[in-house]
Amino acid sequence: MSTALHPTWCDPAHCDVPDRQPLGARGGAHRSKLVALNLEAEARGETGHVYAGLAQSARPRAGVFLKWIINGEVVGHLPLADAEPLAWLIADGLANLRGDDQPIEHAKAPDQ
Ligand SMILES: [Zn+2]
Repeated sequence: MSTALHPTWCDPAHCDVPDRQPLGARGGAHRSKLVALNLEAEARGETGHVYAGLAQSARPRAGVFLKWIINGEVVGHLPLADAEPLAWLIADGLANLRGDDQPIEHAKAPDQ
């Protein structure tokens, strides 16, 4: 038997990885709490509120995915590494909203 370890973002209320599994077994998935996005979306003819969260299978070397959920159903997922450029844009935007950054001038060639 082995004791399960969880990523820091994993929420016990959403994770279904067993606390103890036979050696070599990796059942279930780690899941974060769901974050409500302030928007509604239409998917597959359904309209509903959109939630986002992280998920990762307990299998060895499984990737972490950002997923979108509408009406309790996962309607899209993105490898977290592919979401990194968007995450940096959001971080910059949030720093701007908090006033933690300073606007900059763009360096342009003289004839632009
Ligand atoms: Zn977990």
